Amino acid sequence: MDEKHECEGCLEFLEVLSDYHDGVLDEVVATKLEMHMRECARCKAVVKTFKQTIVHYSTTRCEQVPPHVHQGLMSALKRCMEDE
Ligand SMILES: [Zn+2]
Repeated sequence: MDEKHECEGCLEFLEVLSDYHDGVLDEVVATKLEMHMRECARCKAVVKTFKQTIVHYSTTRCEQVPPHVHQGLMSALKRCMEDE
């Protein structure tokens, strides 16, 4: 098993995650990500955290997630993946 290879897929996933969430991601890529998500517990957890943060903001503040929060979330998730 090549752990590094799997890691690359996860980081690639993270980069397009907000596009995926906004529904603007290319359909082919989105399908690929959904398939990856089914097999990767880490990405599943990342998407859950991501969605929870977005939902929290949109329900409590009726506005978009501030860029600094979005950026902080993304770098936290990235760090989490790189630590593995
Ligand atoms: Zn993954």
